[in-house]
Formats: sequence, C-alpha cells, structure tokens
Amino acid sequence: MKRKWRLFTVFMLLFMLSGCQNHSVNEQEVASIKIVTTFYPMYDFTKNIMGSFRNVQMLIPAGVEPHDFEPSAKDIANITDAAVLIYNSDYFETWIPKVKKNIDLKQTEIINATQGIKLMESAKESGEYQKTFDPHIWLSPKLAMKEVANIRDGLIKKFPHKKALLNKNAQKYLKKLMKLDDDYQTAFKDTTHHKKFVTQHKAFSYLAKDYGLEQIAIAGLSPEEEVSPARLAELKKRCKKDDIRIIYFEETASSKLAQTLAKEVGVETAVLNPLESLTKTEQKAGKDYFSIMEENLKALKLTIK
Ligand code: ZN
Repeated sequence: MKRKWRLFTVFMLLFMLSGCQNHSVNEQEVASIKIVTTFYPMYDFTKNIMGSFRNVQMLIPAGVEPHDFEPSAKDIANITDAAVLIYNSDYFETWIPKVKKNIDLKQTEIINATQGIKLMESAKESGEYQKTFDPHIWLSPKLAMKEVANIRDGLIKKFPHKKALLNKNAQKYLKKLMKLDDDYQTAFKDTTHHKKFVTQHKAFSYLAKDYGLEQIAIAGLSPEEEVSPARLAELKKRCKKDDIRIIYFEETASSKLAQTLAKEVGVETAVLNPLESLTKTEQKAGKDYFSIMEENLKALKLTIK
C-alpha cells in the first residue's frame, strides 16, 4: 500500500513537472512573438499583415480616446516584453520618445508607421503659438497604404523567415486600400460647388487634401481642445455663408460642441468617425478600418456635391 502511494506521488510529480514545462515553453514562444500596437488603425493594419502568425495586441483599450492617453506601469511592462511595438507618430502617441529611452530596443523593435511621410505643420489652437504636426495620416486611404508598407517592412526586418507570408498578406491588404482610394476618388471627382465639410476636430486634413475637399474643424488637432465662444460664433457665421447643411460629430469624444453648433446654425448632424478608437461592440459587430471608412464616405456624400 505504502509503495503504491509512493509510485502515485512520483507519477503525480512527473505529471506536474511535464505540465509546468509545457506551460513555460508555450508562454515563452507566445511572448517572443507578442506584438503590441498602440491604437485601432495600427492594430487593424498589423493584424492583417501578420495573418495567422500572430499575437497582436492593442495597448489603448477599446473605446478610449487615444489623444490624451498616458501608458501605465503595466503598459510599459507589456511593451518591454513585446517583440515589436507599432505606433503612428510622435505627434500622436507623444509618450513614445520617453518609452524608447527606457526599454531594451534590441528586445523590442519599434516601428513608426508614418516614417518618411511628410506631416503637415499645424499650430496648437489654445494658448501661445506652438508649432506641431498633424498626425492623422491613417484617415487618407492613400497615406494608409504608406503606413501599411512601413509596418510590413518593419515586421520583415524583425521576422525575416516570414518574409513571403508578410509580403503576401500585406499585398492583399494594400489591394483593398487601393480599392478604397478608388472609391474616394470616384465619389469626389465631379464635385463642383460643395467641397466643404465641418468636423468636430481637425482629423481629416489629409483626407481633404488627397481628395480635393476642404475641412472646417470646430476643435483643433485634439478633440479635447477648448473652443472659445468667439470661435463658435465665427463658425456659425461661416456655416451660414457656406450653406453648410450637416455638422459631423464623433461618437468616442464628447460631441457637445458639434451638437451646439448644429443647433445654432439650424442643421442636422451625422457621424464622421476619425477611427481613433473602436468600441468593443463595434468590433464584435465586425466593423473594421474598411467598413468605417466606407461609412465615412457615405456620410461625406451627404454634404459634398
Ligand atoms: Zn484626432
């Protein structure tokens, strides 16, 4: 009886040991290919390029406005043991330069998706004049293609043995972006008199520039920026003069200003999504970069004629 128990104990120990071993190997493997992206478009682009070879995470939680995001100690730890960190721009994820100084760059490869893209210079609206750059590159399908190419090249550098797969997946995604670019071009190529659209914050400058439109933004580069009563009064006048029929608002950031302006001008509102965050419900409903950009196109057609 005693012997039986001893054998049983040995078996249990072996079983537990083998279990532990398997567990740690799996975890190591997964950690070695963990890829952290900052916010939704970076996540969507990367997930599609990685395909089945993936553990792609999004750092900024679904539904959280990323403009004023600051990473927690837990977020930094998450980045530290990731193989790759993918972000949009130092002018959007303003906390990246600090993170870069504090992590092992040999362990974590950092990919700047707007690398080599010329950003538009802009001024911060509130307070003293401060030069900054507009980071909203992903909202122009034309420029989104460049971001996807940058992400693809960075991933190939980190995972050279997966080059064929990464190229193939990226090509498939780029084809869809070309079609989206085509849809935008076709929709606005015969625009004659109504090229102006009013947005909640200045997120659509690249889209406007690439497709021959003109954006009138209520708030500045960040949706949380304050807007003075004088600016609102000026906007009201401008909307009337330009015969604006719709004011676009966002669902993730506070839409109070857009709603107020619409009421004062006496016009309707519609959603124009800057794709800075997708809620869990939206993601579960199968929405993604393409479906939202098609919805945006439909919404813009209400104004632009
Ligand atoms: Zn923005």
